[in-house]
Amino acid sequence: MINRVCVFCASSQKVAPKYFNVAESVAKVFADNNITTIYGGGAVGLMGRLADVAMRNHGEVIGIMPSFMMDVEWGHKNITELIIVKDMHERKKKLIENIDAVVVLPGGSGTLEEVMEVITLKRLGKFVKPIVFVNTDGYYNSLFDLFDKMIEEKFMRNEHRAMWSCVDNPCNIVEAIKLAPQWNDSAIKIAAV
Ligand code: AMP
Repeated sequence: MINRVCVFCASSQKVAPKYFNVAESVAKVFADNNITTIYGGGAVGLMGRLADVAMRNHGEVIGIMPSFMMDVEWGHKNITELIIVKDMHERKKKLIENIDAVVVLPGGSGTLEEVMEVITLKRLGKFVKPIVFVNTDGYYNSLFDLFDKMIEEKFMRNEHRAMWSCVDNPCNIVEAIKLAPQWNDSAIKIAAV
């Protein structure tokens, strides 16, 4: 059963409508499949759109935000629950607690940092859930090229490719989560190259 999925995505308000459309579609897919959205708790950008549309479709949305962001009023005011944490580190830790998968939408440095941390933890066997990129219009192609380069140049192993998967369309997210290769703490044995 897929109950709780963490989404990493952009806070930018200025990105093209196609990216907002993807956030909307993800929210609808989650609502249709009774999946609770766990996210950074923001009210703007793709984060805000994801939360708004999930709430509008009677989904459950849990935001996790550090107190300094609450101080500048970045917190979403209309979600199921907004959990305030001490700092960015606690937020990232809490975002991936008791979840069934991570879904990554287009984003900036914050999104990239969040996904790289879960990939790094997965490589070490400390996080074992599926990680699915939604590659809207090839947004993440250059990141996948870099992963290829890392593997080709032996900074990572070919087996590490199984840590993430990629869909072009949000309607394939649930299937991608279900099809993700099993992973467990024995990954530590192949963490080093
Ligand atoms: P990015 O992909 O660079 O937009 O980063 C998304 C992450 O940036 C979020 O998880 C937050 O840590 C942070 N962030 C930046 N601006 C905001 C905002 N206005 N509201 C909420 N989070 C934000």
